[in-house]
Parts: sequence; C-alpha cells; structure tokens
Amino acid sequence: MREFDYQRASDVAGAVALLGADPDTRFLGGGTNLVDLMKSGVERPARLVDIRELPLDEIEPTPDGGLRIGATVTNGDLAAHPEIRRRYPALAQAVLAGASGQLRNMATVGGNLLQRTRCGYFTDVTKPCNKRVPGSGCPAIEGEHHNHAILGASGHCVAVHPSDMAVALAAFDAVVHFHAADGPGQSPLADFYLPVGDTPHRETALPPGALITHVTLPPAPVAARSRYRKVRERASYAFAIGSLAAALDVRDGVVQDARLAFGAVASRPWRAGAAERVLIGAPADAGTYAAAADAELAAARPLPHNGYKVELIRNLVVAVLSELAEEAAR
Ligand SMILES: Cc1cc2nc3c(=O)[nH]c(=O)nc-3n(C[C@H](O)[C@H](O)[C@H](O)COP(=O)(O)OP(=O)(O)OC[C@H]3O[C@@H](n4cnc5c(N)ncnc54)[C@H](O)[C@@H]3O)c2cc1C
Ligand code: SF4
Repeated sequence: MREFDYQRASDVAGAVALLGADPDTRFLGGGTNLVDLMKSGVERPARLVDIRELPLDEIEPTPDGGLRIGATVTNGDLAAHPEIRRRYPALAQAVLAGASGQLRNMATVGGNLLQRTRCGYFTDVTKPCNKRVPGSGCPAIEGEHHNHAILGASGHCVAVHPSDMAVALAAFDAVVHFHAADGPGQSPLADFYLPVGDTPHRETALPPGALITHVTLPPAPVAARSRYRKVRERASYAFAIGSLAAALDVRDGVVQDARLAFGAVASRPWRAGAAERVLIGAPADAGTYAAAADAELAAARPLPHNGYKVELIRNLVVAVLSELAEEAAR
C-alpha cells in the first residue's frame, strides 16, 4: 500500500477545505470500502481526511415531517433507529441485509452511497477496466458477468452498484445533501448516480471535493408498509444478485400508492417508475404485479450469462407485493 498522510477534520467547511481540489486526497468514513481498495491498489491516495468526528451523526425530524440522516451515521445505528424501523421499514431491512454486524458498526451512510462496484475486473488492477482506467476496455462484456447489469448499461461498462441502502433510499425519494467548495448543494438520489454512457468513471453528481453532509427522506405514508428483499448466493455476508425495495398502499382491493426500486440490476439503484404507473389505480392482484414488473423489465438488455435476473426480479415483484397486499387486508 502507498504511504499516506492522515488528518482529522473537526468541522464541515474545514473538511472541504482540507480536501480542496487535491485529486490525491480522499475523505475517510468507516474505511470499509476505501481501505480495501487502497490495499488492492485501486485507490492510491496521498492523504486521507477522517470525517468521523464531524457533527453529522444524528437522525432528526425535518420541518416537513420527513427525516434527516447525517452522513456519518453508521449503518448499524440507521437500521436500529426506531423512526426508520417504524416509518421506512424497508430501509432498515436493506441495511441489515448488507455486510456483517462489525462492518455495519463502522460503515457510514455517506460511504455506503459512494462505495464502488464489486466487478472483479474493477478490483483487479492487472485487468483492463473502463471505470478504473478510462479507455482501457470492459472485459466483463465478453467475460465474467453473471452478476452484472441488465438495465441502463452501455457498451463501455456493465457493472452494478452494490449498495442495498441506496435501493430503499431511491424508493422513498431521498435527497443527497453535500457541502462543496462554493457552499452547500443537493441532488435527488434519482439524479445522483450518473448514466453510464461512455464515461463509467464518472459515477455521481457530487462536485469534485464535496462532502456528503446528510440525506433527507420526505414524509411518505406508503413507506410504513414496505419491505426489502435481497437475493444472494450465500445466506449472509454477500452482495445482492437482485433485490427489491417495495411499498404498497391498497384500499378496497385497489392500489392507491406504490413504490418500487430494484437493486443489483444497474449502475445505480433502479427506481421502477414504469412499474409504479401500472400499479397505481389497478386491482391489487398477481396479474397486476406481473404486468407492472414486465412494464419495467421491457427495457432489460441482459448479457449471455445474466438473463436469469429478469425472471428473478419479476418473481420478487410478484411475491413481495402479494405479501404486502395480504398484510394490508388483515
Ligand atoms: C465484506 C463486505 C461485505 C459487504 N456487504 C455489503 C452488502 O451486502 N450490501 C451493502 O450495501 N454494502 C456492503 N458492504 C459495503 C459496506 O456497507 C461499505 O463498505 C460501506 O457502506 C462504506 O462505508 P464507509 O463509511 O466504510 O465508506 P469508506 O470506505 O470510508 O468510503 C467509501 C468512499 O466514500 C467516500 N466518502 C465516505 N464518506 C463520504 C462523505 N460523507 N462525503 C464524501 N465522500 C465520502 C470515501 O472517500 C470513499 O471514496 C460490504 C463491505 C464489505 C467489506
Ligand atoms: S463492467 Fe465496468 S467495472 Fe467491470 S470491467 Fe467493465 S468497465 Fe470495469
């Protein structure tokens, strides 16, 4: 590992000033992704600015009735928070579905949103990879891609975003707030992750050197009846091969409101707007749920070895929405 300097930031503006425009400096959250990438040589920063002592570790109500989640709140504290569990249960479930207890106690909300893909070519510095070395190629397209994207990919990169938390945040219209050199800013999560196109190395709308300060969740009554279901190759300690965050409000047998987001299918959490439009106002039955899934998955462009994800996601949508509707009827 390359030698690096270490500094602790004590306030937000100071942290941003410390990072400055230096492309060789990184913020250090829990370090559970960054330090791994430094060990493998994917990241080689000359300096780390530790942000864990910043006053960004609270979960608080917002004036509009939503919640404000600080960027250094740990994944463990987020999943355990009573208001998250009561009002956005799919978010608590998504976080608990990730990593292990020890990792969740270190990992932070900001770091989780910015963690990098687990594509094996990206993490192996001996291999070409357009995301790591722009213009070097994408060996996954002809090679190992069984857990790569079926939606929104390009001929330049087919990697998926690994975060479970981000999938639930996408379903509930979260907004990412940051502090850049020229002051504070924000981006809806829906726009935070950039389209892959021919620039897979440009991943987010975060301005260079900006610090994520917090994430806000608007009030969403539908989220109180929500669920996160993750499919993975091992029962624990594994990233998703497909996942779903879903919320459903059913009255008199008709869907009043619905939220759906898919995980492990694209370079970003995939908000399933086409599926939601099919659901709202339609009878709450398996036929509607399947039609909703099909409407979203019509855009899927699977590779030779990941076509199973289309059926996996379709089955998840039908199963989870059926369960949520049955619970509502009790
Ligand atoms: C074995 C293992 C299994 C895992 N399984 C899962 C899983 O199943 N699901 C899942 O979702 N995750 C999983 N994770 C990922 C884990 O949740 C992430 O590593 C973690 O959330 C990253 O948070 P961190 O605070 O440690 O980030 P760090 O490693 O500290 O930082 C990650 C990146 O974000 C930047 N950064 C951090 N905070 C900020 C900020 N506030 N503003 C701007 N930039 C910032 C850093 O500079 C770095 O580039 C797993 C990790 C491991 C090691
Ligand atoms: S899928 Fe993306 S991250 Fe993986 S090798 Fe191709 S360019 Fe790199």
